Amino acid sequence: YLEQVQQSERLKMIAHLTAAVAHEIRNPVTVVRGFLQLYRENPAFDTSDRSKFALMIDELNTVEQVTSQFLSIAKPNRELLQVERVDVREVLDGVASLLGSYAMLSNKHIDIQAGEDCAIFMNAIEFKQVIINLIKNALEASDTGAMVHVIARRVKKTVEIQIIDQGCGMTEEEVKALGTPFYSLKTNGTGLGLMICFNIVQKVGGSIKYQSEKGKGTTVILTFPAAGPS
Ligand code: ADP
Ligand code: MG
Repeated sequence: YLEQVQQSERLKMIAHLTAAVAHEIRNPVTVVRGFLQLYRENPAFDTSDRSKFALMIDELNTVEQVTSQFLSIAKPNRELLQVERVDVREVLDGVASLLGSYAMLSNKHIDIQAGEDCAIFMNAIEFKQVIINLIKNALEASDTGAMVHVIARRVKKTVEIQIIDQGCGMTEEEVKALGTPFYSLKTNGTGLGLMICFNIVQKVGGSIKYQSEKGKGTTVILTFPAAGPS
């Protein structure tokens, strides 16, 4: 019981801290990105420099994503999140290009195969958050030169999304620990990404399953109730 109390106190404390930090990070990021956007369009720089500015902007976008992710733990019921029809393929393509330069830095690649008939009902930002977290984990688990495959398809009344990597994989014990706050085997990990993902997926009546083999790789299978034709 004591452990549970300590855990919830820790969560509360981290919630306060993250809200403050996230807020403080956002403003300078916005300013720096504004300048980079100007430089990117400035003909005084050559094409190679301008593409580096684009990369920096992408990285800042990632910083912002992570920040808002932390904010969402800090204030989970901040407002009633608007539920809308989400075109899964569109979001996957968007996330792939957002994470593209991040992956390219370590020579890793993302391949998206998504059906046109994959629509779901949920908050688009939350859906994106889940996908970003899962693809990032897959990239982080992978070796240089690796490819992460993302496959989305309609299966009866559900939309199934698989995120497949051939990275370090996990033992059965490690898979069981997924989603536990602060559980991370990474040097710079927060161990909060999957906790957020599990929460979001469960909230919309979806499911998340892991198939993993140590040293071979991991497949995450996400399932969401499908939205009917618009
Ligand atoms: P973080 O990425 O900050 O460590 P997460 O909650 O996203 O936190 O993940 C928790 C842990 O789960 C990771 O540190 C890693 O050990 C393990 N993990 C998650 N996804 C994968 C994957 N695709 N392959 C191998 N291990 C994974
Ligand atoms: Mg993670």
